[in-house]
Amino acid sequence: MDWQDEATCQGEDLVLFFGPDGERQAERDIREEIAKEVCSWCPVRAACLNYALTRPEKDGIWGGLNENERAQERRRRQRRVSYAKALEMAS
Ligand code: SF4
Repeated sequence: MDWQDEATCQGEDLVLFFGPDGERQAERDIREEIAKEVCSWCPVRAACLNYALTRPEKDGIWGGLNENERAQERRRRQRRVSYAKALEMAS
């Protein structure tokens, strides 16, 4: 994964992106906001997100999204593909 060479999170503590065991929701919310801030200026954010969306990466912040947000993004992309296929079949 060449894009990882450009990752802003290189050298960051993995706990920032994946969280510690036994983390409470309030702590998680704060940690995820900080991790997403790091992702926000990452030059390989799109590649990171695309990688995570095509693999069963259940945990952590990838491409600036947490697992629930990535599940939403997967569904959004799938709907877009389905819509494009339906348009193609109708034409
Ligand atoms: S988008 Fe975030 S998690 Fe992905 S490589 Fe960049 S800093 Fe790391």
